[in-house]
Amino acid sequence: MNEYISSVLEMQHRRNAGQTEFLQSVTEVLCSLEKLIAANPKYKKNKILERISMPDRIIIFQVPWSDDKGEIQVNTGYRVQFNNAIGPYKGGLRFHPSVNLSILKFLGFEQVFMNSLTTLPMGGGKGGSDFDPKGRTDTEVMSFCRSFMRELHHYIGPDIDVPAGDIGVGGREIGYLYGSFQRMTHTNAAVLTGKGLNWGGSRIRPEATGYGNVYFAEEMLKTRNRTFEGMRVLVSGAGNVAQYAAAKAIQLGGLVLTMSDSSGAIYDPNGIDAEKLHWIQELKNVRRGRLREYAEHFTGAKYFEGARPWQLTPCDIALPCATQNELDLEDAKALVKNGCLCVSEGANMPTNLEATEYLQANNVLFGPGKAANAGGVATSGLEMSQNAIRMNWTSEEVNERLRSIMVNIHATARSAAAEFGEPDNYVMGANVAGFRKVADSMIDLGI
Ligand code: NDP
Repeated sequence: MNEYISSVLEMQHRRNAGQTEFLQSVTEVLCSLEKLIAANPKYKKNKILERISMPDRIIIFQVPWSDDKGEIQVNTGYRVQFNNAIGPYKGGLRFHPSVNLSILKFLGFEQVFMNSLTTLPMGGGKGGSDFDPKGRTDTEVMSFCRSFMRELHHYIGPDIDVPAGDIGVGGREIGYLYGSFQRMTHTNAAVLTGKGLNWGGSRIRPEATGYGNVYFAEEMLKTRNRTFEGMRVLVSGAGNVAQYAAAKAIQLGGLVLTMSDSSGAIYDPNGIDAEKLHWIQELKNVRRGRLREYAEHFTGAKYFEGARPWQLTPCDIALPCATQNELDLEDAKALVKNGCLCVSEGANMPTNLEATEYLQANNVLFGPGKAANAGGVATSGLEMSQNAIRMNWTSEEVNERLRSIMVNIHATARSAAAEFGEPDNYVMGANVAGFRKVADSMIDLGI
């Protein structure tokens, strides 16, 4: 390994001991930059790897709130402002009991490169809390969001930092957060994206990450003269990204066979069609129920407690859209054995390092999250543009822009990878292209 890269990795391991996810993503990104770093001594001279892999700042705060019984609860809130060389910090808020600094730093780090790839002027950040909205009433979620924003509002602004949703933060949470911001600051400043259509949101934002992921997969498939038509598709997750990835795959003629939540996976040999997907959306978004109910409702479908989709049935395309590290080496082996030809990551880092390498070594088209799920943040960028010019574009307009951004990201990643002799290596291509723009800007801007 390049000496400069290994010295930075050694430093990161020493300083961030125990931060598994963060170290995993830094290792994956830095190792893939080997050829670029070797060819460009300016990055070492300007200590770019040290600086780009360390957040600009991290804000940690307490979030006290009152539950429905009047009992005071206390959670931890975070905002990791990672890098703003090319635009305001931008990245989602995650509310989930597993949230910790390692996870948010990994997500913020990835976000820097993802946002760079979109071609829009956005830096990278991430935030959230170990609060679990699951099982909480609307009043409790509102109480938590108010308290969270009471602290966060000091650090955000349309030209400073613009958070959005992520796991556990959907339209309801963004609404309560933005309402609190308005009341505290007496402004309508566009400090969040993922807003409701009536109060500054963009059309197609809810659909964007899932649709974008399928558009990216479509581009990868084209390089092998294939389309979604008639393909067997495994989707994991049943949240925002999974729902719209499944919807677009169905629209394009794919046969979606699975979905999952944190309790288990469903397999429907007859395919999850648009009508069944609508039922799932009502179950998850309105009734906030569990996916196991699907198998009780639809004949022929089976539910597997604690399972993930990858080993349940053969497929042509896999779309992991739930969470990090949900597809491991054993899963990758099963996918390859069963003839899978394309994996496109809707979630952030759902495939672990060993599995990624195995898929790539076995000629599976592999779209890494920072390229394949960039449609969400790209459309957040389009929401910021609409807010700035005080206009609302039509669904067709936003969808067309989203599609062309995804086509462009695919072409950029592919050509950056081809530059270093590996056109099918989207991991390297996305990292090189995303990194180069941010790193060169950092050099231009000085220290
Ligand atoms: P949601 O909260 O809407 O959905 C998350 C889904 O993943 C749910 O089905 C959830 O199940 C499941 N899940 C969560 N944790 C686990 C776990 N530990 N094991 C198995 N399943 C789990 O989140 P999103 O759809 O918004 O986000 C999904 C992924 O996509 C995340 O990695 C996120 O960072 C990434 N992403 C999201 C973007 C967006 O625009 N929303 C943009 C880019 C990336 P359950 O219902 O049981 O909790």
